[in-house]
Amino acid sequence: MADVFLGLGANTGDPRANLRRALQLLAPAGDMIAVSSLWTTEPVGFLEQDWFLNAAVHLRTTHTPLQLLALLQDIERALGRQRTIPNGPRTIDLDILLWDDAVIATPPLTIPHPRMHERLFVIEPLCEIAPDIVVPLLGLTVARLRDRLAGSMRIELAARPPW
Ligand code: ADP
Ligand code: MG
Repeated sequence: MADVFLGLGANTGDPRANLRRALQLLAPAGDMIAVSSLWTTEPVGFLEQDWFLNAAVHLRTTHTPLQLLALLQDIERALGRQRTIPNGPRTIDLDILLWDDAVIATPPLTIPHPRMHERLFVIEPLCEIAPDIVVPLLGLTVARLRDRLAGSMRIELAARPPW
């Protein structure tokens, strides 16, 4: 069993419905231990698009990292994600943030997620469910990362769980 944290984001169609559907489709991968609030966040990088809804979840899984990545990509496809503009609009984005205390740097997978510590839209929801986890390689807790990023972008609480 591995304790895995995932980051979820969506900003097209009905983003909350897409996130809910993604959670349902994740169920076969294991036990959902915790789900964060939903956060409304301003787009980063490509600005001419709607705000995102973001969340983080704690999944306890028997999958291997590559099996879980394949499932996440299946779910992205099932929800109609098109890969077009980098950082552009998406019906769903599912990223593996942390996998126990593993460090993985083998294409197609990098864990911890290489940009998570720069992104308040990832760290804020993760901090709700895993404030004390020390992020491998960085050696900092999620709460500390959150404090470092506070004020770096606009982010608002949208809904507490269950959403
Ligand atoms: P982004 O999430 O950065 O917006 P994508 O969702 O399009 O970009 O992901 C592009 C690729 O990132 C995927 O095909 C996958 O192979 C790779 N990838 C590397 N590390 C991870 C990870 N930790 N979680 C999810 N995808 C990852
Ligand atoms: Mg992704």
